[in-house]
Amino acid sequence: MSATDVRKPILTKQRRAVFDVIQSSVDHLSAGEVFDRAKETLPGISFATVYNALRYLKENGMIGEVSLSGGPARFDRITTRHDHAICEACGKLVDMKLEIPGSLLKSAIDVSGFKPRSFELTLWGTCSQCV
Ligand SMILES: [Zn+2]
Ligand SMILES: [Zn+2]
Repeated sequence: MSATDVRKPILTKQRRAVFDVIQSSVDHLSAGEVFDRAKETLPGISFATVYNALRYLKENGMIGEVSLSGGPARFDRITTRHDHAICEACGKLVDMKLEIPGSLLKSAIDVSGFKPRSFELTLWGTCSQCV
C-alpha cells in the first residue's frame, strides 16, 4: 500500500470477526487467542486467515499492537497513545492513560537526540493478584 492510498479498509467477514474479537476484549490477546475466539463465530476460519487479518487491521490503524521482548505480539483495541503495566508472573497487561510530564519527554529527547514519533511508559512487575 502506498502513502497516497486513502481507500477505506475493506472488511471481509473474516476481518470483521477478528476486529470484533479485539474490540470486545479488554485483554491484549495474542494471535493464538484471537484465533480461538474467532472460531466461535466463524468455525471454519484458519490461523493464517486470522494472522493476515490482524496484519491488515494493524496496517490500517484499526487495532494496535504491543510488542513485548521475549513474548508473542499482543493486539490492542486502543489505537491512540497509552501506557502499559505488565505482570511478569501471570502475563497480565493493563492499559494506563498517563499524563507524561513535558519535562520528562524533553529530557528523553535531550539524552537520545531523537525526534520522537511516539513514546510509552511501561511498568514491569507483579499485579495485585500476584504480589
Ligand atoms: Zn499477575
Ligand atoms: Zn493497551
